[in-house]
Amino acid sequence: MDAATAAVPLDAAAYRELENSFHGRLVRPDDPAYDEARKIWNGSISKFPALIAYCTGVADVVAALRCARLTGLPLAVRSGGHSFPGQSVCDGGLVIDLSPMKGIRVDPESRTARAQAGVLLGALDRETQHFGMAVPAGIVTHTGLAGLTLGGGIGWLMRRYGLTIDQMLSVDLVTADGAFLTASERHEPGLFWGVRGAGGNFGVVTEFEFRLNPVGPTVLAGPILWPMEDAPEVLRFYRDWITDIPDDLMTIVVLRKAPPLPVVPPELHGRRIITVISCYAGDVEAGEQVVRPLRAFGRPLLDLCAPKPFLQHQAMFDPSFRPGWWYYFRSCDVDRLSDDVIDSTTAHATRVASPLSTCGMFHLGGAVARVGEDDTAFGGRGGGHTFNINGNCTSAEGFAEERAWVRDTWSALKPHHSGVYVNFLMDEGEERIRQAYGADKLRRLRALKREFDPTNLFRSNQNIAPGEPAQFTPPAPPAPPPAR
Ligand code: FAD
Repeated sequence: MDAATAAVPLDAAAYRELENSFHGRLVRPDDPAYDEARKIWNGSISKFPALIAYCTGVADVVAALRCARLTGLPLAVRSGGHSFPGQSVCDGGLVIDLSPMKGIRVDPESRTARAQAGVLLGALDRETQHFGMAVPAGIVTHTGLAGLTLGGGIGWLMRRYGLTIDQMLSVDLVTADGAFLTASERHEPGLFWGVRGAGGNFGVVTEFEFRLNPVGPTVLAGPILWPMEDAPEVLRFYRDWITDIPDDLMTIVVLRKAPPLPVVPPELHGRRIITVISCYAGDVEAGEQVVRPLRAFGRPLLDLCAPKPFLQHQAMFDPSFRPGWWYYFRSCDVDRLSDDVIDSTTAHATRVASPLSTCGMFHLGGAVARVGEDDTAFGGRGGGHTFNINGNCTSAEGFAEERAWVRDTWSALKPHHSGVYVNFLMDEGEERIRQAYGADKLRRLRALKREFDPTNLFRSNQNIAPGEPAQFTPPAPPAPPPAR
């Protein structure tokens, strides 16, 4: 498909009706802004929607959903545009884009914050850190709050304060039939359960409410680097060390080539390394005690773990994940860093070719595991580590090789897979979605889907089909309104 074919199917009467009631910008394939507007973060995805509707508020969302229902066009919902497989844009369909909705309000008295769906993580951190507080969320500031939260939300503060959904108090959303609802523990508790892990399936979320917790503003944080040759020993040490660390400490291990950043000495640029990146969410002095054994292990090439503003630490991965580069991912949870997991991971990491590709492991546990597995739709609270293996290139050049490296690394870990984080999936099919939620939760989510989106209007996502996929045939879209 290209821009010309994307322009064809839009029903004129339905479009006119939308135009008459819509306040935001409507971008069609003949608009000079179209080519920029259809882009998302992952440059390897190129889709051609028939219409992009930039919503300024709930009324615009309701109008755009009505247009989708009337025309029967495929629908995608986009907030930060960071979906790995590009599910927030669709060929020949309507994209509901929430990016103009960037309102944030922090209430320091009640320690709560409200954030609209178009907010990016960096903006929320900036506002909450002004009051010395934070919402636990992800590790790259330009990621969208909405998509991240609705899948769970893992990051630097999760061992201390849980997933992003664990601090979520309510969501406002517009359902497939255009109804506006607020879901919380008290109102629509079933829906509130479902949006905490499978959120994109039940409606368009327009606003979130979060509980805030104290963080920083100075934290002990940063990477310590060792040569890749030492990775087997570093990981064995790490495996033992993390059995006894407090929940305040979150670590991510990354195996890659050292990036050419100003903080990395030039002689290390491009050298294969293993790094353990820490973020201690409590008192800095206490953090120094906890991190001391890690610093003392072996012979680090570089130690950048130091007191710094939480906001600065939150941005450390930004240069490694630039918008527009080509990305391919495979992810899995692994319960334990067994010798086999360590040896297989390091053997594959040693073969990484692109200076941008990485193999990362998030340490789970702590507050994530203290919430009951069935309390939210999110699956895998008892997991040990979330692996995220990504093949990254600046363009198509070398991408096929990186993709093959990612697949090989991931496949070698297959005997150890214990689940997968839904937000780290590509388009991998029904079985992988089942792995993300488990069979029982998937059944419960399907029942919820039948209640709130029986026609599967919201299907450009990690989709919960309303029935067993083999039995379910989506009904025909309603007939368009008569031309005026
Ligand atoms: P979009 O592409 O806009 O949306 C993704 C999907 O979410 C949509 O297809 C839709 O199904 C749904 N959706 C989005 N907005 C809405 C809405 N308002 N209402 C209903 N459904 C909606 N995840 C983590 O947990 N922790 C991390 O540290 C982390 N780091 C990341 C870093 C980068 C660079 C990237 C690209 C991703 C990262 N992720 C992380 C994964 C991230 O959680 C998902 O990619 C998430 O979907 C991004 O949200 P978004 O709003 O930017 O995505």
